[in-house]
Amino acid sequence: MTENVITTDTLVVGAGQAGVAMSEHLTRLAIPHLVVEKNRIAEAWRSGRWDSLVANGPAWHDRFPGMTFPGSHPDSFVAKEQVADYFVAYADKFKAPIRTGVEVFSATRLKGRPGFRVETSQGIIEAQRIVSATGPFQRPVIPAIAPQDSALLQLHSAQYRNPEQLPDGGVLVVGAGSSGVQIADELNRAGKKVWLSVGAHDRPPRTYRGRDFVWWLGVLGLWDAAANQPGKEHVTIAVSGARGGHTVDFRQLAHQGITLAGQTEGFHQGVVAFQDNLATHIRTGDESYLALLDAADLYISRHGLDLPPEPEARYFMPDPDCMTHPVRTLNLQQAGISTIIWATGYATDFSWLKVDAFNQQNHPQHHRGVSSEPGVYFLGLPWLSRRGSTFIWGVWHDAKYIADQIAIQRQYQHYRPDDTEA
Ligand SMILES: Cc1cc2nc3c(=O)[nH]c(=O)nc-3n(C[C@H](O)[C@H](O)[C@H](O)COP(=O)(O)OP(=O)(O)OC[C@H]3O[C@@H](n4cnc5c(N)ncnc54)[C@H](O)[C@@H]3O)c2cc1C
Repeated sequence: MTENVITTDTLVVGAGQAGVAMSEHLTRLAIPHLVVEKNRIAEAWRSGRWDSLVANGPAWHDRFPGMTFPGSHPDSFVAKEQVADYFVAYADKFKAPIRTGVEVFSATRLKGRPGFRVETSQGIIEAQRIVSATGPFQRPVIPAIAPQDSALLQLHSAQYRNPEQLPDGGVLVVGAGSSGVQIADELNRAGKKVWLSVGAHDRPPRTYRGRDFVWWLGVLGLWDAAANQPGKEHVTIAVSGARGGHTVDFRQLAHQGITLAGQTEGFHQGVVAFQDNLATHIRTGDESYLALLDAADLYISRHGLDLPPEPEARYFMPDPDCMTHPVRTLNLQQAGISTIIWATGYATDFSWLKVDAFNQQNHPQHHRGVSSEPGVYFLGLPWLSRRGSTFIWGVWHDAKYIADQIAIQRQYQHYRPDDTEA
C-alpha cells in the first residue's frame, strides 16, 4: 500500500507567536509552507498561564508591527486570552496555512534525496525545510531538591491558575522572576500567608521619567543586545503588568506581608533550608534597577529630551525585618505551609527533532536560528539573536531573518546552469 504523504517546501512546527510570525514572512516571500500545531493557535497563552496574567509589556509594544490590539489602550497591559485572540486574528488576516490538532512525533532526514520525513498524528509530511517554533518554555522544570512529601501540594507555575485552586494554609513560592513575584503577590492579596524564595534577578523600573522600561530598553539598544552580560546569562527578570503595571519592589512585597527568603537550598525531614543570600540578591537587583535609571538620565541629557525629573525613583523603602534577619530554616508543618509553587522556569524539548543540530549538552547549534544542520531552523529561543528573541515583537524580527535565509537557500537550490548562452 502506498503511503499518503503531504509535501511542502517548509514545515513550521508550532503555532504560537513564533509560528504565526514565521508563516507571515514565508507568505510574504511566496514560499510554500505549512504550519502544524498540536493544540490550538497560541495555546500557551490560553492554558499554560495563570488566570489573571496580563502581558508584561504594554499593548503598543508587545505586538507584531502589522496589527494593534483591537479595543486596547496602547499603554494598557493586555489580558492573556486577548493575547491569544490577537494571534488567532493575526493568522486569519493573511490566511496562514495552519493545521491545528496535528502533533509532530518525529522528523528525520530523508535518505538519498533532499528533505525531511515528518511523522505526525495525522500522517506523514515531507518537507525540504523545518522551522522549529515549538517555544522557549515547553517543559516546566522543578529542581531535584523538591521534597517527596505527599502531604504537600506542589505545583509548577505553569500549573498555577488562581488562589482558590490551593488548599487552606500557607504557600512557599520558589523563584522570584516575573512569574514567582506575581503569583506570590496575588496569593498574599488573597489572604494567604506567603514565603517567597528570592534568587538572582534583574528588576527594571516599570516606568521612569514618563516612559515604560520597554521604551528605555528600546532607545538604549538593550533589546538588541546579542548576549546578556557575562555571569548574568541565566538571571531572571522581575517585571509585572498586573494592576496596570508597577515596578517589582521586594521591600514593598515584604511590607505587605510576604516573608522573603534567600535561594532555596534543600529540604530535609519537613524543614526547608534557605541560603544566606537574600540581601545580596536584593541589592544586586537594586543595582540593575539603578543602572537603568543612570543610563536613562544620561540618554536624556545627551539628547536634550524634555522628560520630567523623577528623583523619588531612587528612594528605597527601609529594609524589612525578613531582609535584615533572614530566615534560614523553616519547618513547613509548623509554619502551616500546605503548598509549594515552583516558579523555577522551563526547558525546551526537541526529542522529536532527530537531526544533527544539537551540541553535547543537547542545545540547538545555530546562528540567529539557522542551524548547523542544513534545512533546519530554530525560532523563539532565548537570545536566539538578541534579548528580545522570546518576546512577541522580537520573534517577529527573527522570523523575518529566517524567512530571508530560506529564500536565499531556495534560490541556490533552484539554480540550474543556463545553457542558452553559448
Ligand atoms: C508566564 C509568562 C508570561 C509571558 N509574558 C510575556 C509578555 O507579556 N510579553 C512577551 O512578549 N512575552 C511574554 N512571554 C514570553 C513568550 O512571549 C511566550 O512564552 C510565548 O508563548 C512564546 O511563544 P512561542 O510561539 O515561541 O512558543 P509557544 O507559545 O510555546 O508556542 C509553541 C507551540 O508549539 C506547539 N508544539 C510544541 N511541540 C509540538 C509538536 N511536537 N508538534 C506540534 N506542535 C507542537 C505547542 O503546542 C505551542 O502551541 C511570557 C512567558 C511566560 C512563561
